[in-house]
Amino acid sequence: MHRREILKELYGIEAPELQDLEGYASLNIKVKTTDGRTFVWKQNADSPLERAFLGAENQVLLRLSGSLPYEFPVPQTDLEGRLLTVMENPDGSRTLHRLLTFVPGAFFDQVAQTPELFTSLGTFTAHVDRALLDFRHPGIEARTHQWDLQHLALPLEHIGYIKNSRHRKLVEYFYMQFKQVVGPLLHKLRRSVIHGDANEQNLLTHKGRVSGIIDFGDMCYTPLVNEVAIALTYAMLGKDDPLTWAEHVLRAYTAELPLDSSEVDLLYYLVAGRLCASVCNSAHAKTLKPDSAYITISEKPAWEMLETWLRLNPRAVTTVFRKAAGLAQAPGADLGAELARRNTYFSKALAVSYAEPLKMEQAAFQYMYAASGSTYLDLYNNIPHVGHCHPRVVRAGQDQMARLNTNTRYLYDPLHAYSERLLAKFPEPLNKVFYVNSGSAAADLAVRLARIHTGRKQIMVLEHGYHGNTVTGIEISAYKFEHAGGPGKPAQVLMAPIPDAYRGSHRGSDAGQRYADDAATLLKDGGWDPAAFICEPIIGCGGQVPLPDGYLATLYPMLREQGIVCISDEVQTGFGRLGRWFWGFEMQAVVPDIVLLGKPMGNGHPLAAVVTTNAIAGSFENGLEFFSSFGGNSVACAVGLAVLDVIEAEGLQQSARETGDYLKSGLRDLQERFPVLGDVRGEGLFLGIEFVKHPETREPHTDLAGAVKNRLKDKFILVGTDGPDDNVIKIKPPLCFNQKDADVFLHTLENVLQKLI
Ligand code: PMP
Repeated sequence: MHRREILKELYGIEAPELQDLEGYASLNIKVKTTDGRTFVWKQNADSPLERAFLGAENQVLLRLSGSLPYEFPVPQTDLEGRLLTVMENPDGSRTLHRLLTFVPGAFFDQVAQTPELFTSLGTFTAHVDRALLDFRHPGIEARTHQWDLQHLALPLEHIGYIKNSRHRKLVEYFYMQFKQVVGPLLHKLRRSVIHGDANEQNLLTHKGRVSGIIDFGDMCYTPLVNEVAIALTYAMLGKDDPLTWAEHVLRAYTAELPLDSSEVDLLYYLVAGRLCASVCNSAHAKTLKPDSAYITISEKPAWEMLETWLRLNPRAVTTVFRKAAGLAQAPGADLGAELARRNTYFSKALAVSYAEPLKMEQAAFQYMYAASGSTYLDLYNNIPHVGHCHPRVVRAGQDQMARLNTNTRYLYDPLHAYSERLLAKFPEPLNKVFYVNSGSAAADLAVRLARIHTGRKQIMVLEHGYHGNTVTGIEISAYKFEHAGGPGKPAQVLMAPIPDAYRGSHRGSDAGQRYADDAATLLKDGGWDPAAFICEPIIGCGGQVPLPDGYLATLYPMLREQGIVCISDEVQTGFGRLGRWFWGFEMQAVVPDIVLLGKPMGNGHPLAAVVTTNAIAGSFENGLEFFSSFGGNSVACAVGLAVLDVIEAEGLQQSARETGDYLKSGLRDLQERFPVLGDVRGEGLFLGIEFVKHPETREPHTDLAGAVKNRLKDKFILVGTDGPDDNVIKIKPPLCFNQKDADVFLHTLENVLQKLI
């Protein structure tokens, strides 16, 4: 039957003008009658659930339009007095027909965005919700709907359609937070029937205020606060200052319908959840309509807002929301009291950074969220290598911890899977691995292995090197044994000069070779007979000093002639941080006999290792068991595997290279304007800026480096200082640190330098 005939048969409407409208789940037709009335005719495929739902929707519409001074679609009866008409189609299927009044007004996004408009949105939404507080209908409660925030798992099934790995990671992160924070509380929250989609294209306005709403197809029986979260999400979308707009809405909403703190405190996570649902559904929709420019355009603000949301400290957002909702603030941190508490059970040998310490509550990727509500851009923590709380790493650890956490005395898959993947990253003959829990334990074990392999005791180290906090670790760490309060150089340790081509005795292109020759001379002239030589490819605690070109390539062969084991400490430099190389020793074009791994290996989970050759591992097989209770446990291996996966999936080595080059060139530009930046050095995202009083004299400018570090902290950027004169700013952020972050840092550093100099 023709549309016009159906209309006439069902509703007695003659010769109308018909126009198709956008519709998600239903076919929507705008109907204009000859006598000037306008309706929307909605058709849905029949099913028991749909029938029940549409029946409920009609009741809601009648209730709202009968009780509130706003415009809602009003259901009309057919000629037989039915609000919902079931019609059999020629093919035997059935269609559900409804006729609703057309709601006049300009859509929310077509009018000036004013505080009054947003305030009216809050009031309006509260009025709708209040009118529905005691409304119950099995037709709504029976439905599990993919836009209902309590069922966020449904749209998240589409996450695989998101192609961009950074985007996918954002969604995974916020979904993880949602499950963690909202999940356990969902069942406790006050429930109600809500509209569930107060967006700018469903809301209508009149004279700069919200006047009505259409499209009740996403109604659900769910925590009431979900209505607010959804309205806030759309209110903030595309705004430069999203929280200001959200405040208007929330203040007005809660003035009419108060929320309690258990609801308001979830809003940060619920808003993120709504954005995740939106981008996952868009990604899926794109696979159905690959050429749709509309989907790509409409999802852009959602992605931007997820990025904005990540930069906002959840506590800061909650503070704004609590204030708007008229609720008391959660107590803040009393740093003085906390420091005093810390000092009651800690030795002062355990330092805390900054004169006014930072209390951290949460972190995500390159951001750290302090208890003060501030978000810090983290350029200092190289341990969360692939980013703080990376969802894949967290999930890998959680899943494995819930399944099996055991040690290397058993066979288990994660151990073998990880070891294969890890060793595949090394050149021959590095083909054996021992797991421990810290860089220090790795250094300790490496020294032990070298001693057993060679039957010798002495160790050759570099000035200012650091390798660990154990007895052996301190003995081989000039950074510690030479420091004030340190025990001094042990007799069995030979210390070669740091091959610093900026400050040291050899500079220029042959510095590497000359430093290597010096080290060899020291060795020979002193009659030394060491088991091993240990150094880092870029000496971190020494002030980010890269070994000059040719240093190890000259030195290693000379050492090996004497049977000395060559150890590369990659605790800081490993796993792609240097950009051009996965391991630091590759930068020097050598292959060590032992490699130490730590910090980044488990992204913060205690996982470290010694990788060595068959020959050295073989010397260890002397009847004594090597066992580490935690080293290589199944959780650590699962975490390590996830870290490798993420480095590859997100191209983090390449991005360390690109971002590092970009940052270094920005710093070199700054150096031209500020000669106190005596040297800018390092590779990838392992850089150092050495501060000097004068570029010629190179006199260390320790005070300035410290002041810059503290000023940067005041501007929410974390860096550290190190080096023998503590005049080098160390930059070693999580590898997700990107060019935009580099711009923020460069810009802030410039401002700080302008003020300080
Ligand atoms: N080696 C190097 C190069 C390091 O930087 C460190 C830690 N700063 C260690 C070893 C010791 O590692 P951990 O703190 O995990 O014991």
